[in-house]
Amino acid sequence: MRIDKLLANVGYGSRKEVKGLLKSGAIKVDGEKVKDAKQHVNPNEQEVTVYDEVVVYKEFVYLMMNKPPGVISATEDHQHQTVVDLLEIEDAVFQPFPVGRLDKDTEGFLLLTNDGQLSHQLLSPKKHVPKTYYATINAPVTEEDQKAFAKGVTLDDGYLTKPAELTILSSGDTSEIELTIVEGKFHQVKRMFESVGKKVTYLKRLSMGSLQLDPDLELGEYRELDEEEIKLLK
Ligand code: URA
Repeated sequence: MRIDKLLANVGYGSRKEVKGLLKSGAIKVDGEKVKDAKQHVNPNEQEVTVYDEVVVYKEFVYLMMNKPPGVISATEDHQHQTVVDLLEIEDAVFQPFPVGRLDKDTEGFLLLTNDGQLSHQLLSPKKHVPKTYYATINAPVTEEDQKAFAKGVTLDDGYLTKPAELTILSSGDTSEIELTIVEGKFHQVKRMFESVGKKVTYLKRLSMGSLQLDPDLELGEYRELDEEEIKLLK
């Protein structure tokens, strides 16, 4: 990989800014100054330093965010803040994108990565990756709802949902539930409750696959996944 691309990828500025760094003699490869932006390096075998600090190179970044409400699950939006706008520059340089979407008002577990292959796998309808949500509902939630969701309910567009597991945490004028679904249709949780005449008043995603939302993450905070967690996703 070209040295200017590598350094730009890991956050040392634009290609132009990196060129300036190279010219100034700040960059060394295996201890030798490198000034040519076109020089190729192998980041796995050679040591690249900037002002004698070793550059840690990685191709992919995997971030778990506790998405706050009011923010769009997209990389760009002309009107609203996006989840990518919440990233620090050193993470944003990897150009991660959200894996799937949460509605603007939904909170909780959102994975961001620049690993297109993993994203594709996780979103593939064939994979049936389970996603668990916590929700509050504006009415009593019943065993009939549980049975209906376990069988599959018909959404407003005629789609029959795959079997889903509904756990009733409390039932009353406002109910609390957890729901695990293995697909990700548009507004799916809200539309499943609409199909039984009820309304979701709050929605938070708790997990995706076997990864749970880190309880230490406040709304809007995120952290990198560790090696073990990345393996759990694959
Ligand atoms: N289901 C919904 O209705 N909204 C979400 O954001 C996620 C799942």
